[in-house]
Order: sequence, then structure tokens, then C-alpha cells
Amino acid sequence: MPKPPAKKSAPRRTSARELVFGDLWEFDPAPETADPKLKKRYDLFINGEFVAPKSGKYFPTISPGNEAKLADIALAGAADVDAAFQSAQKAFDGAWGRMAGSERGKYIYRIARLLQDRAREFAVAETMDGGKPIKESRDFDVPMAAAHFFYHAGWADKLDCLAPGRRVAPYGVVGQVIPWNFPLLMLAWKIAPALAAGNTVVIKPAETTSITALKFGEILQEAGLPPGVVNIVAGAGETGAAVMTHPLAAKVAFTGSTEVGKIIMRSLAGTDKKMTMELGGKAANIIFDDAPLDQAVEGIVNGIFFNQGHVCCAGSRLLVQESVASTVLAKLKRRIAVLRVGDPLDKNTDLGAINSREQLERITALVQSGVDEGAEIFQHACKLPAKGFYFRPTIFSGVTQSHRIAREEIFGPVLSVLTFRTVEEAVEKANNTAFGLSAGVWTDKGSRILKMSTELKAGVVWANTFNKFDPASPFGGYKESGFGREGGRQGLLDYCKLI
Ligand code: NAD
Repeated sequence: MPKPPAKKSAPRRTSARELVFGDLWEFDPAPETADPKLKKRYDLFINGEFVAPKSGKYFPTISPGNEAKLADIALAGAADVDAAFQSAQKAFDGAWGRMAGSERGKYIYRIARLLQDRAREFAVAETMDGGKPIKESRDFDVPMAAAHFFYHAGWADKLDCLAPGRRVAPYGVVGQVIPWNFPLLMLAWKIAPALAAGNTVVIKPAETTSITALKFGEILQEAGLPPGVVNIVAGAGETGAAVMTHPLAAKVAFTGSTEVGKIIMRSLAGTDKKMTMELGGKAANIIFDDAPLDQAVEGIVNGIFFNQGHVCCAGSRLLVQESVASTVLAKLKRRIAVLRVGDPLDKNTDLGAINSREQLERITALVQSGVDEGAEIFQHACKLPAKGFYFRPTIFSGVTQSHRIAREEIFGPVLSVLTFRTVEEAVEKANNTAFGLSAGVWTDKGSRILKMSTELKAGVVWANTFNKFDPASPFGGYKESGFGREGGRQGLLDYCKLI
């Protein structure tokens, strides 16, 4: 007689305290003190000036770190978006459209320098509005945003070298919509190449992180950028749709979820707008048994817990070779048990706040699905602040490819661990996803790196490192992660017509 199926045991929640000896040393609080120079109210930036929305409507933006209200943000309606496009078109038809690349380059360079001058102020504003740790906004987001402007300033007078044998020309007005995970950096990725190529811009930041985008308007004024070259409108999905579908938008560039990307693509089907889409991801970080394991563990931690996992290219699936799986898992657990989760403005903080209550609920629901589907959960046992949106670093082991946590983008600090035995199995599992944004390979063998990087269907493959960026290096996806590139020569070409 067949045996009755074994009863599924309840998932075991391991406490970090089981794994570390003694308590984590307490550090004195070290809050960043630079003044973010926040205003109580932010207006739209249209035609070189801050203007009240025609609708008269404002919406609050709060700090996810403590839920305190930071400012009121102007809500752009269709009439405001139209005014922004009219001003961008006028600037394109006027002085900006006729300006020599060498002159445009000077403006872009000036923007980069001004951003550097006000770097600390922007970093604090970014952390307060978005929830990311100050050490990330200070050491990564703001310097990288400035680096993108520097890089593209250098291209503005060399566009003829972009495509040898062809002439290049700007499209005209570009409509851009960006997400909340790297608010200023995504803005730089969008605006810098657009300006270098000679386009003008209407851009919309995400509704939960509008402050640094609108502060950026102050930098444009300081740089003396001609009115209308860059226009910044704020609001949620409706405003974003108005930007993407405006008749004057010759090209649109979107970064955000695959779901919204598809809505935009459907709404633009049949138009002649040029499009680039930077969408979601479900990256695999693949560890072979010959990898330097301690280094790999640091890479995995950086890959998924950096910015609370609010990273499109986050290494959210760990594929580890079976022979070293238990060693790697033990090292990982020990490592996350000493991560500091808390006040984003504290310089000691490793993981700050989740960007919004909605995102926290989405992460919580997906983690619950992992527990319900039978994966084994390990969570950092740290105390979370009483106010604000926080989530413990989480590792799931015993994950199979059919689990939701292995298939869906969680966009939070949650790692799903799967195992493999052969190179072929690793490639197959890594590619078994609707996405294709990035991947990581950890091995001692150069030939294996080359094989993996040609067989993995991902726009970026990092070898023995993870989450490394450079303005000269193109970034973008395969499959449902989108199309088009940002950064490098390829990214700039996406803002140019070839003649
Ligand atoms: P989201 O798609 O919800 O929102 C992104 C932006 O689109 C926001 O500004 C939002 O207001 C706007 N929007 C919403 N509905 C819209 C509509 N119908 N028309 C036009 N605009 C609309 O994404 P999110 O939650 O803000 O960001 C997280 C997502 O972004 C993740 O999926 C992540 O992977 C992705 N992302 C991708 C990259 C990349 O380079 N591939 C980079 C960063 C983030």
C-alpha cells in the first residue's frame, strides 16, 4: 500500500541570535547633520521657473524613515504637462536646438559641478525622502549622478563619432518617467544623454520621491540653462501617462515596473514615438564551488541588501553549487546577522527604510507566499524602529523554481536560495525567468566566466563582483526587463536619430 504523504512541517524561523556570539555592539547614533534645505512646498519647474500647478493641487511627501511629512508637492495635471511640453518644444525650436555641441557641453558640465558643490545637501534630501541609508546616497547616488553629467558633457561635441559614417540628430522633445529607487540617479541617467544629444526634456519623478528632482530645478537655474530645455512635473500615474502620450513627445523613456511599461507600450502602439523601456528584473547571482566564498558572500549581500533590495538589478536569486551550498548559507546568515537596520540618516545604517507603506505591504505579502509554499525562512532578529517602514533582511532556502519568490520581483531585501550541480543547470535555472536585466558569476575559472556571460540572457553580467556601475558602461535588459540602453555610447545613441 502506498504510504500517506508526509505532513508538511511548519517553516522554521531561525533567529539571528542563534548564529552570532553575543550581542551586536551598539554604536552611538551618528546622524548626518548637513542641512537638506527643504522647502515646505515644491512647485513645478516649467520654462525655467517654479510655477504653481494650474489645478491648484498639492500632495504630501513623507519620510519613510519616520513617517513625518516633509513637504507638499505640486500635482501636475494635463494642462501643466502640456505647458511643460510647449516650453520644451519652444526651447528645441529656439536657441537650444541651434546651439553647438561644445556650448551644450558647457551647460552639462556646469550642472555636474553644481551637483558636486551641493552633494551633501542632495544626499540628505534623497535619504529623507526615499529612505535609503545616507552612506548610499552620499557615496553612490549623488556622486554617480554627477558622474553621468560629466561623462555626457564630454560627448556633446563629439556626436559625429557615435556612429561612424552616419550623421546624428536629436529627436526633439523627450518625455521621461522615472521610479523611486534611485530618484536623482535615474534623473541623471535620463537627462544627461538627452541634453548631450541636443534634445529638450519633460521629466516626471515618482510620486514618493519628487524632492531631489524639483531641487534639481534649482541647479538648472544656477547653471543658467536656457528656459524650457528641462521641465520637471510631479504627480502619480495619471501625470506619467500624460507625459508618455503627449503628442509633442518625439521620444519617450520610461524606467519602472514591467507592468506599467506594458501599459505605456500599449498606449503608444501605432504612434511613431521612439521608445526605450528600463523595466523589472530577477537577477541570478551564481556561485560555483571554486569561487572565493567570503568575497562572494560580500557580493551577494551587496547585491540584494544594498538599498533595501530596491534595485532593479538586485541579485534576488542565489544559485549556489550544491557542494558549497551549506557553507555559503551559513556564512550568509552570519553576515546578515550583523547588518544594521534603522534610521536612514545614521551613518552606521546598512539598511534604511522601505520606500512606502504600499511597498512594505507588497514585500510582506510575497515573503508570506514563500513561507506558505514551504521555503525555509531566516530573518535578521534585529529590533526595528517603532515608526517608519522597515523590513528585516530575509533569506529563503529550499526554494524551487516554481515558488513565487523565485519568479516575481520582490523589490525588497529578500534573497531566494536555489542550488545546482552543473554549469548547464546553472544557466538553465538563471535564464528560467521572464526577466533579463543582470546576473552575477562567481568562479575562479576565466573560461567559465566567458561561457556563462555569453549564455546568460541578461543585459549585464558581473564576474566576481556585483552592482558595479560606470557612466561609460551601457545598462539595460533582455525580455521583460525592457529594451534600449542607458549609459555609454549605446545609451547616448538611443537619444539620437541616425541620418
Ligand atoms: P512603477 O512602474 O510603479 O512606477 C514608475 C513610474 O511610473 C513612477 O513615476 C509612476 O508614477 C509612473 N507611472 C505609474 N503608472 C503610470 C502610467 N500608467 N503611465 C505612465 N507612468 C506611470 O515602478 P516603481 O514601483 O516606481 O519602481 C520600481 C520598478 O522600477 C521595479 O520594477 C524596478 O525593477 C524598476 N526599475 C528598473 C530599472 C532599470 O534600469 N531597468 C531601474 C530602476 C527601477
